[in-house]
Amino acid sequence: MSEYPEAYTEEWRLARKPHKCCECGGTIFYKEKYNYCSGVWDSQGRSYKTCKDCYDLRQEISEDFSYDERPCFHDLWEYISESDYKPFLQRFIDNMDRRGKLVKPWMRERLRKCKNK
Ligand SMILES: [Zn+2]
Repeated sequence: MSEYPEAYTEEWRLARKPHKCCECGGTIFYKEKYNYCSGVWDSQGRSYKTCKDCYDLRQEISEDFSYDERPCFHDLWEYISESDYKPFLQRFIDNMDRRGKLVKPWMRERLRKCKNK
């Protein structure tokens, strides 16, 4: 569940060096555009970098939900996993593969067992 931040900015940045995506844990490559969010939640400043693939996925998933039902940062996998919808699971795992993040065997198992195509 997302909480409303006390302050919030969001922008697209061009990576001047590789970064790590806060969702898939994979690499945001040099010279790739990525989404940068910073804000204050519970009086704590935080910032999040999201790769384009995870950003798109998050947008798509969030479309049908009201703000406080949308996935928080870092929660995309959990959210997708709960949705039990194969195309989303597949895309998330493909993102990880493409970005050099090790996909855990139980994640592939999760995908394999998903019946909701
Ligand atoms: Zn990502």
